[in-house]
Amino acid sequence: MEFIYSIFVVCFGLILGSFFNVLIWRLPRHESIVRPPSHCPRCNRPIRPWENIPVASYLLLGGKCKGCGQKISLLYPFVELATAGTSLLLWHTVAASCSSNWFHNVHLALQCFTLLLMIPVTVIDIRHLIIPDAITLPLLGAALVVSFFPGDTTPFQSVAGGIVGGGTLFGIGWLGKIIFRKDAMGWGDIMLLAAVGALWGPKVALLTFFFGSLTATLGAIILALLHRLNADHYIPFGPFLALGLWVAVLAGDLLVTSYMKFVSGLFFGGY
Ligand SMILES: [Zn+2]
Repeated sequence: MEFIYSIFVVCFGLILGSFFNVLIWRLPRHESIVRPPSHCPRCNRPIRPWENIPVASYLLLGGKCKGCGQKISLLYPFVELATAGTSLLLWHTVAASCSSNWFHNVHLALQCFTLLLMIPVTVIDIRHLIIPDAITLPLLGAALVVSFFPGDTTPFQSVAGGIVGGGTLFGIGWLGKIIFRKDAMGWGDIMLLAAVGALWGPKVALLTFFFGSLTATLGAIILALLHRLNADHYIPFGPFLALGLWVAVLAGDLLVTSYMKFVSGLFFGGY
């Protein structure tokens, strides 16, 4: 039975990944995500339903548009496979805490969906250096709504999380603007962490920020060593916030406890 569930989750992930590809292509171009139906961006040939099957169609078409022979980016099947793989991972970790309380399950489903949304957020931010409001604002709204469900994050924690998450990045951006005289933090990053805070509460928002900053610093050092930093030294923060969120949620309380131990060790010198 467990195997059948896993197959179902993988199929769900592939279809969701296919939807993420639509977001990745259309949101930065301010296009509607429903109209017009999928078409080749070069020759406008409509994509038939059987050419729209995740991964399989890419292989059957040999990675080329049937109309004009334009190469289809490997990113499409990659996003579909990545979404399927991470869906399965979530199914075996986070989703295991499903309960008979349906309010809790809706909350959990929104959290899992948000974790998966980090895939298109990462791709869009790397390609276009933005995180669309069309992703973060509905997420923030939905997080505030489900906080009224009994059992999980309370409306107070949700609002506090939103303020802590968004406020932290806003404050850092403000400081950066004073010190470096240029925009240090994007609006999209601020809204993303506000939505994360509203959905999980202040603790996860701060942990996401902590792990996000840590990996971003490491990433910047590695890029600098490889001489791959661009001219204005701008690195999209979204992918690191996404990674930070995954670490914060999956490593959960274990990391909080060891982090607190580490911090108290620093202040009180206890080993
Ligand atoms: Zn074409």
